[in-house]
Amino acid sequence: MLFKQLFDQSSGTYTYLLADEKSRDAVYIDTVYEQHERDLALVRELGLNLKACLETHCHADHVTGGWLLKDALGCELVASVHAGIDPLDSALQEGDSYAFGKHHLTAMETPGHTDGCISFVLDDQSMVFTGDALLIRGCGRTDFQQGSAKKLFHSIHDKLFSLPDDCIVYPAHDYSGRSASSIGEEKQYNPRAGGKANEADFIGFLENMRLPHPRQIDIAVPANQKAGKPETMPVKPQWAPVVCTYSGNLEITPQWVAAHLAELNILDVRTRAETDEESVRIKGAQLIPINELRERLGEVPQDKPLMTICRSGRRSVLAASILKENGWTEVANIKGGLLQWLDEGLPIDKG
Ligand code: FE
Repeated sequence: MLFKQLFDQSSGTYTYLLADEKSRDAVYIDTVYEQHERDLALVRELGLNLKACLETHCHADHVTGGWLLKDALGCELVASVHAGIDPLDSALQEGDSYAFGKHHLTAMETPGHTDGCISFVLDDQSMVFTGDALLIRGCGRTDFQQGSAKKLFHSIHDKLFSLPDDCIVYPAHDYSGRSASSIGEEKQYNPRAGGKANEADFIGFLENMRLPHPRQIDIAVPANQKAGKPETMPVKPQWAPVVCTYSGNLEITPQWVAAHLAELNILDVRTRAETDEESVRIKGAQLIPINELRERLGEVPQDKPLMTICRSGRRSVLAASILKENGWTEVANIKGGLLQWLDEGLPIDKG
């Protein structure tokens, strides 16, 4: 199985990507609205079929990217039948499972942080995605939404702690850089629910925490009840159909560039040795070697969107970022460089 743990710095949220390596079927658990481009790029680059975005619950601290991913890729939206999220393509109850290739996740209802909290247990019980029910050496708060410390105690003690000790715990959040734990570790060391803590100990802890009101709650809860569907769609660049890569750079296809050459400036950043030896280039392309670019920025025009290129499309990514740092806003890298351009049989100038 292919597995990735992704992090959103501003909300401290973990997003998980799980995929069956053979069928390429994949699911995301707990995406973040602001990270939807990153999450789209990752499934695109890994060649995965995103089947669904699963939510562990209706979050109060960030908005889900689920609806945007469904809009882009047609995947399903999946959460607990009790989560209060609408629309959903699949509403899960205790014991229901969601398959991706030869794997599946089973829903374990773990209410207490909210009524609609579910944990997702991987088919072989080697991993559990606990949302905000069980955190690493902590647990979700129970002082808002339908929070109940009593329910959460039983979700953790009677349900999550019944999983194998070596089952790895992947929570929805961590604010201290801890990425994973295990059921055995949390049974022993969780300061709220572990050791010999009983229901009264646990409730006594949670009910006396006096936590600040979550900053995002008034925005996040209503947005998540609609699965993250925005009032207005995020604005896409109007100047070219660029896509953002998982590395965070804007990229454009060679075909689109070839069909729109008159509306673009092309900057070729191969070295002098390369361009002397290999005389092919895109018609009208300006040549400034990457090692001279910072000193020669004044020669680079700003009247049209600028597309950068080199031999393989790697150094030209750096060229695009140098230009961006220096005030160019409409700049992207030509995917695959001249090698891909030639492979696709696109027109070039020789000599
Ligand atoms: Fe939460």
